[in-house]
Amino acid sequence: MRSRVIRLILLCAGLAVGCRPAPSGTPAGVAVPPEALAAIDTASFMARIRALADDSMLGRGPGSLGEDRTVAYLTGQLQSLGLAPGNTDGTYIQKVPLVGITPQDQPVLRFAKGARAISLKWHDDFVAWTKHVADQAKLDRSDLVFVGYGIEAPEFKWDDFKGVDLAGKTMVVLVNDPPLADTTQFGGRAMTYYGRWTYKYEQGMKHKAAGVLIVHETDRAGYPFSVVQGKTGEQFDLVTPDKNMSRSDIEGWITLDQARALFTLAGQNFDTLKARAAAREFTPVPLGVTASVTITNKLRTVDSRNVVARLEGSDPALKDEYVVYSAHWDHFGVGLPVKGDSIYNGAYDNASGTAGLLMLARAFKAMPTPPKRSILFLSVTAEEQGLLGSQYYSVAPIYPLAKTLADINMDEINKWGPTKDLTVIGLGASELDDYAAQAAGEQGRTLRPDPEPEKGSYYRSDHFNFAKQGVPAFNPGVGVDFVGRPTGWGLQRLEEYTSTDYHNPSDEIRPDWDMRGGVDDLKLFLTIGYRVAQADKFPEWRPGNEFRATREAMLKR
Ligand SMILES: [Zn+2]
Repeated sequence: MRSRVIRLILLCAGLAVGCRPAPSGTPAGVAVPPEALAAIDTASFMARIRALADDSMLGRGPGSLGEDRTVAYLTGQLQSLGLAPGNTDGTYIQKVPLVGITPQDQPVLRFAKGARAISLKWHDDFVAWTKHVADQAKLDRSDLVFVGYGIEAPEFKWDDFKGVDLAGKTMVVLVNDPPLADTTQFGGRAMTYYGRWTYKYEQGMKHKAAGVLIVHETDRAGYPFSVVQGKTGEQFDLVTPDKNMSRSDIEGWITLDQARALFTLAGQNFDTLKARAAAREFTPVPLGVTASVTITNKLRTVDSRNVVARLEGSDPALKDEYVVYSAHWDHFGVGLPVKGDSIYNGAYDNASGTAGLLMLARAFKAMPTPPKRSILFLSVTAEEQGLLGSQYYSVAPIYPLAKTLADINMDEINKWGPTKDLTVIGLGASELDDYAAQAAGEQGRTLRPDPEPEKGSYYRSDHFNFAKQGVPAFNPGVGVDFVGRPTGWGLQRLEEYTSTDYHNPSDEIRPDWDMRGGVDDLKLFLTIGYRVAQADKFPEWRPGNEFRATREAMLKR
């Protein structure tokens, strides 16, 4: 699939207009109204980012005063543009019921073997929580079992559990997929869903484990332990009928150093067992060590909000069909201070994407005639808590997903200047890539696959919930080939951002931000959505894509 896309890019490169990708029926030459393109400019874009990333927004934490202010700002903006309320009840709000769970005090995690024991310090050595909607959950001398990568993938004939009984026990598990020389297994260098930490906890639940402790390794997780430490405060979840009691009692992470100490206590060697886990023959290893920890919760329920606006399509026969643009408005609110700053402004993540959504709303509204199909502007909550707002929309959609042609999601928009390329996370997944390749070609740019596929980014933002339900979803990243910059400069900026500012209070607007590249990207997203809204047919997943069957079943009904 990838080679087809790349060939397409080569064909398109350098051609200003009229480059038609042969196979997919992309409406080539459908000109985007110039008024719409002109409505996207760096000054207005920057002004909106500034408003959203301002200290007065208090880091846009769900269920906080920061949420109230953010929702008021977004609603005001959409209203003043003259866009219709997106909800059928006549409001711009879709309520998202959440439960907020805050661990109290500073619990101690104790590993014991006979008379010997080690105690791990909260925040520094481990981070843990319970998702149970209950006052307390604990591990009481729960037997630790090392389960390698904790993966069951029949298609790769891979089973790390091999029938082990984990009921009441605590699994110690590695993050990411097993690193294999055979790149046809799992995603090669790309992380699959099996590698994601959310999957590891789902496995704990499936095997009725009392606890799940993931060993943190910076290179394998894709981010430093400081990002995990961000989970020491209030965490949210969607309210479920069973109050999350089917989940493991305790979920958490331990540092690599503490994992080594634990394996030493067990009379084992971490590196030896880790190496063994990278093979099919691996079998679970009872460590002969127990874990104890008690976590006491403070609970509250919150009606958080997705903000949603709608531009009605101009074709009476097609206006009940939708193209969705999404971006999460939330960030981490006010939390543990880092270098004296406790406001997690999330300027890049995701004031930039949210401002981008407002710019697209403005652009569509500037069209002399709206597109044939309707456009939905969906600003979702609680992405940072596990994609919760978009999950809620995807299971309780306001407009049927079978009539939703595509989701175009924005999470972090390029702040480093113009690029010659655009990264598409999961490039090759659907025909939306043809639209993107064409629009990029018209800008004299090219598409490229994720330069860091090992981070599993396809599973890490809101478009994934649309994809899971079958709706073709487009998730752009940031180009890495910057105009006038040496090779490698862009990747360096990305790495710097991940290691210093990502999910930290220092994610703030800096004087050197250059939004010209971001504006190019927004115009490209505008072009994709406009053409999909005008197209003769729905975009499809490529044959072989994991979400294609779900979509076909949905459209048949
Ligand atoms: Zn984000």
